[in-house]
Amino acid sequence: MAGPNLTGRRCQCTACGDLFNSESAFDRHRVGDFAGLGGINTRRCLTTAELLAAGLSRNGAGAWITGVFLRVTEAHKQGPQGVGATTIAEATNGPF
Ligand SMILES: [Zn+2]
Repeated sequence: MAGPNLTGRRCQCTACGDLFNSESAFDRHRVGDFAGLGGINTRRCLTTAELLAAGLSRNGAGAWITGVFLRVTEAHKQGPQGVGATTIAEATNGPF
């Protein structure tokens, strides 16, 4: 089987199988807490709708990219209906 081309910082989630163009994009799709002592593991992947709401989008290769990357590579292609300044600000002020 020919797997995806995982070069550079690209990674694939072993839980949901989605591709991510960077570690930060990957980190943003995992939410919840790891199980502590006797705790419950609520760690999970965001759904596609949740990823889109979080400002991520898929690039031409089908890998999820963050808003910061989007500004550099996708802004010109998407034009005025693409993500705007709100998403870019969110990305730069995000938890990463
Ligand atoms: Zn996942």
